Amino acid sequence: MARIIDAPLTTGDGGSCDPRTIHGAWGALDAAGRRGLAYTAEVRAETDHLYEQVKHVVPAIEWPAYAPLIAAINKMKRDKNAVILAHNYMTSEIFYCVGDFRGDSLQLAREAAETDAQLIVQAGVHFMAETSKILAPEKTVLIPDMRAGCSLAASITGEDVRLIKAKYPGVPVVTYVNTSADVKAESDVCCTSSNAAAVVEWAAKTWNSDRVIMLPDEFLAKNVAAQTGVKIISWHGRCEVHERFTAEDIAELREAHPGVVVLAHPECPPDVMAAADFAGSTAALQSYVLDNRPGKVVLLTECSMSDNVAGAAPDVDFVRPCNLCPHMKRITLEAIYDALAEMKHEVTIPEDVRVRAKRAIDAMLSLPKEKPRSFETGKAPVAVELV
Ligand code: SF4
Repeated sequence: MARIIDAPLTTGDGGSCDPRTIHGAWGALDAAGRRGLAYTAEVRAETDHLYEQVKHVVPAIEWPAYAPLIAAINKMKRDKNAVILAHNYMTSEIFYCVGDFRGDSLQLAREAAETDAQLIVQAGVHFMAETSKILAPEKTVLIPDMRAGCSLAASITGEDVRLIKAKYPGVPVVTYVNTSADVKAESDVCCTSSNAAAVVEWAAKTWNSDRVIMLPDEFLAKNVAAQTGVKIISWHGRCEVHERFTAEDIAELREAHPGVVVLAHPECPPDVMAAADFAGSTAALQSYVLDNRPGKVVLLTECSMSDNVAGAAPDVDFVRPCNLCPHMKRITLEAIYDALAEMKHEVTIPEDVRVRAKRAIDAMLSLPKEKPRSFETGKAPVAVELV
């Protein structure tokens, strides 16, 4: 049942490696050694308290490999007035030990806009770093690995959106934040998986339209259509992590783990959403676990999410079939260390694109702040028009 996407990743030395080993303790040990870092008494004193938050996923024998990088990164953050925005899909040693702000893309975007720090390191993928730069143009935003992309963001361009708008004049364009700045710049309003249904309803009402263009995630669009009753025109983008879950997976899980509570992310196919017990954004999934404390739970989303929620809910038993996002996993402690040490890779956006993209994000942020909205499960599938 447990599956890992084996994507061809490359080490900093140019050799190829498996995403599991790039994050392994031996890789970190080697990486720390090559950077002249060691597990000294001083490092131990600085990091012992951090280990408490990751001991459920990092064996004690492996901690001396991670701790020197963590201590060095935290020192550089202090010296350079930097913060690290850590997405929920980061591995736990990044999420808990060097992340200053943690959460989903909406939470991180808000933090980027509000932080006093002049330097932001995005522990996430490229579109998230662009979103930070759009909202905080006066700050330096670094992405530790320029190759940290996203199958959804890569599925559509600004030119595609212009063509779609020409085909459907007057229909509002709602764009998922998992897109490039170019695509956001062509949109009326952005959304995240936390507020997608609310934004689509708002757009339909504000434009007085019975249809909304929602880009680029086909499954999120179908899932929102089932929740809202708004007719949706969408695109054939898919998250390569969530599209792999199936309703059969859920049936197998229920058989193998009687009583397990199944939580799904709305980038999953509609039949998965229908078969789950609860569905919502990563923020909604985390809240569900923390508020309801199910005895046994499975999160149908990226692998690190369960590890990170488990850190805050040690009493909950997590069943962990998952799919790994090879893009998120390009962000490692060593890549973050190098980004801070060498001030790379700076994210820049042409000003005219940034200003237009910000308008779409601001339109989303100006809507009343509400709790991440969950998706009702058990719904019959609703067709959307795919461009
Ligand atoms: S998990 Fe999916 S949506 Fe998120 S970055 Fe990876 S490919 Fe993109």
